[in-house]
Amino acid sequence: MFDSEFATATTQVTDGAVVCALIGQGITRSLTPPMHEREAAAQGIDYTYLTLDVRSSAIDSIDLADVLDRARRAGMRGLNVTHPFKQRIIAHLDELSPDARRLGAVNTVVFDDAGRTVGHNTDWSGFARNFDLHFGAESREPVSRTSVVQLGAGGAGSAVAYAMLSRGVDRFHLVDHDPTRADTLAATLRPMFADVEITASGTADAIDRIADADGLVHATPIGMAAHPGMAIDASALRPDLWVAEVVYRPVVTELIATARTIGARTLTGDGMAVHQAVDALALFAGIEPDADRMTRHIGELIAAEDAGLRRSA
Ligand code: NAD
Repeated sequence: MFDSEFATATTQVTDGAVVCALIGQGITRSLTPPMHEREAAAQGIDYTYLTLDVRSSAIDSIDLADVLDRARRAGMRGLNVTHPFKQRIIAHLDELSPDARRLGAVNTVVFDDAGRTVGHNTDWSGFARNFDLHFGAESREPVSRTSVVQLGAGGAGSAVAYAMLSRGVDRFHLVDHDPTRADTLAATLRPMFADVEITASGTADAIDRIADADGLVHATPIGMAAHPGMAIDASALRPDLWVAEVVYRPVVTELIATARTIGARTLTGDGMAVHQAVDALALFAGIEPDADRMTRHIGELIAAEDAGLRRSA
């Protein structure tokens, strides 16, 4: 599998370029490759970002140790890792960043100069950076974080919850329509953030929990083009309840649009997508990416995608 991708990598690296790749399932439409390549080109770097799209039938059997070994031997600088390999890849890495170790999930693997594989997690740092800029320490008016409710305790939800807690929250309540997932994530996070009251439940009492909250973080897939709608009834929203979204295709989800209509402060999910790519590109290429330029670029990519969808509808 991936013989032609590794052959391409080998050829490119000979020419002195930085070569990286994304491995995951169903990633052919990922916006990460063009984001990385365009920013690197703007900084004058010869940079190739390949995709290693693992077909469903090979998910269980793929040998991740072999993929890492071949990528390293092909001269690649690193790999981004996405669903469903963010946990599984860990067993095959030499070292983890402290945050990746605490999270138990890796989305960026860097091959260091000694040929060692080092795992990082830029999903959490991407959300945290976007939050800092627009809602947190670096914003003109930081939002209140006494009590925050998060919907969704899956892969993105774990990284986002870790980011929120690292930014200082007094009470944090996790809701998932699979209550076991919410409970499990809460139990994982409690020892890491012992000063925070971390609770969890299914969706039945979500509206009551939100009634007492300053902010709502949304980390379920509801609102994506393929899963339209909202994970919470609109009656739960208030002008003084800030809303941070993880979904970014479309950027303005039904939740964001509804919250804006009633005058609530909102944070869209494209910022997390940009900043996770900023942090990964910095690790791969050793440069300081221009986050504003990458934000403009992802906006163009999503607009082009939306126009294509409208044409084909
Ligand atoms: P996931 O399947 O791992 O987790 C989703 C969780 O949401 C599950 O635990 C599920 O039980 C729960 N859920 C689903 N519907 C619900 C509902 N109505 N109410 C309560 N809980 C519900 O998925 P994921 O990988 O965490 O992805 C979630 C979303 O985050 C996707 O839309 C994905 O595109 C987005 N995402 C965005 C970024 C970014 O950079 N902005 C990064 C990663 C993922």
